[in-house]
Amino acid sequence: MLYQELCEMYADLEKNQSRLKKVELLAAFLKKLKKNEENDIIYLLQGKVFPDYSEKELGISEKLVIKALAKSGGITNGEIVSYWKKFGDLGMVAEHITSKKRQNTLFSVRLSVKKVLENLQRLPTLEGNGAVEKKLSLICELLAPAGALEAKYIVRTLLVDLRVGVAAGTMRDAIARACFFYDDTEKIKEAITIIQEAYDISNDWRVVFEEACKGLSFLERMNLLPGRAIKVMLFLKESSIEEGFNRVGRPALLDYKYDGFRMLITKDEKGTISLFTRRLDNVTKQFPEVTDYVAKFVTGKSFILDSEAVGYDPQTKKYRPFQDMSQRIKRKYEIKKLQKELPVEINVFDILYHNGVSLLKYPFLQRRKLLEKIVAKQSYKIQPSIALITDEQKKAELFYIQALANGEEGIMMKNLEAPYKPGARVGYGVKIKPIDNEFDLVIVAAEYGTGKRAGWLTSYTVACRDKENLLEIGKVSTGLKEKESEGLSFVELTKKLKPFVTSEHGRSVHVKPELVVSIVYQNIQKSPTYSSGYALRFPRITRLRDDRNSRDIATLQEIKKEAEKK
Ligand code: ATP
Repeated sequence: MLYQELCEMYADLEKNQSRLKKVELLAAFLKKLKKNEENDIIYLLQGKVFPDYSEKELGISEKLVIKALAKSGGITNGEIVSYWKKFGDLGMVAEHITSKKRQNTLFSVRLSVKKVLENLQRLPTLEGNGAVEKKLSLICELLAPAGALEAKYIVRTLLVDLRVGVAAGTMRDAIARACFFYDDTEKIKEAITIIQEAYDISNDWRVVFEEACKGLSFLERMNLLPGRAIKVMLFLKESSIEEGFNRVGRPALLDYKYDGFRMLITKDEKGTISLFTRRLDNVTKQFPEVTDYVAKFVTGKSFILDSEAVGYDPQTKKYRPFQDMSQRIKRKYEIKKLQKELPVEINVFDILYHNGVSLLKYPFLQRRKLLEKIVAKQSYKIQPSIALITDEQKKAELFYIQALANGEEGIMMKNLEAPYKPGARVGYGVKIKPIDNEFDLVIVAAEYGTGKRAGWLTSYTVACRDKENLLEIGKVSTGLKEKESEGLSFVELTKKLKPFVTSEHGRSVHVKPELVVSIVYQNIQKSPTYSSGYALRFPRITRLRDDRNSRDIATLQEIKKEAEKK
């Protein structure tokens, strides 16, 4: 397939804001793909070149793109930068300078999608001496023969910023439309659910599409694969134990809500143990002690466990807040040293797969019993989460008090009959914790401070989610420390935000929605100022959630629910 053909579809998608129209366009495109066999194209539809479970990243900086554009366009870096200031998007710069190039490109070789994928997929494999030059030449190889539209989307793909609005739900619905031709809406809904489930266990749209082309039963037969990242199941929030019971039924399993970070542990048939975060990052290297504990204290040839990793002080054995742990997640060197200073305890609370069998559809109680059988209780190393099964309000309250006294964040209450739904926030479990007025939100814009704070981004516009859209809900500038050594500071946030800046206007910047923060507030008011229609009053940043992305933030529905309570 010619890359131009894909780019024309990108342009159509960009023009059409309606989700239905996008689904229709994508479905028509996928139908063509069915005969094509170049199915890696499916990653390109979302501006990616690898499956979602993959850790490979293009890792191309704007600086390198500017260099490549200058080189292939025969103009200076400075000129590119001034166009960039004008358009605010390097993709549009590429389009502009390519359209001004002489016509001779019309007669040169046309770019195929295959060639684009080949070059892009090679980029992360280049390392060491001369890697930058090699990357530059792979990019120029694509830009040289590209037409204006092609150049625009090559650049946007390189910068992982395609801007055509194909989110997971749109992809899922398009696959359903391309592969299944039911008239009955119920049947379509069922197909969509099955496609979603297949994606949630594989995180690979290519495989899902290929199985869907063969038929629904193929999708249903897809199994979990230990060794690969999986999206974990998420929970709802309730404000009292009574509401918790109402949601999950009686009796329920209650377990401690540990204040650490989610860790998915897998052991494949060959015995290889891998660890993943909730953002699907592989952190096996960063936590060698966990691999040891799993090898020693968990029985089974292969399995997938869901757990919370909590850091503690090795001397006092006191648990440490999540914030301290983020250093370990990111650390790539001196791992042993940090391991001694900040050891973790793994609290296993679910099991998804055991000895070749997927347990997703098994009732939770059965999964829990199995995990208690195979995970040994080794305090400060690995253990099943501390749990209680009860139908009594009094006992549940005592358990809650005990959890808080123990320094935990609260408790979880879980439905004993429920299956495990990867990637979904369903009411199969709820969290109960004392801090109620808190939301995880994503930063979408920021402002530079003045006076002593000049040069630092000190005020942040945050947004919640409404399906595929991000809606602003307030500005926050308090809660941060002055110095990095004192905790989360605006210095640190500025450093983190800078690579995501997409445009600047005076003191304000827009940023890619990448950084998620927890915000505590006093109350929520209706407000025309923000696109969500709500504003948080007295918001304060309490922590950075490096383990989250903008998929995991609070939804408009949750905000509404809270606003209506008051
Ligand atoms: P919060 O911000 O309150 O931690 P969240 O957005 O992280 O919530 P939720 O799914 O709403 O995610 O709440 C459950 C989270 O709590 C899990 O993602 C997990 O990391 C953590 N957790 C700690 N202990 C448990 C437990 N026993 N069972 C399930 N999750 C637990």
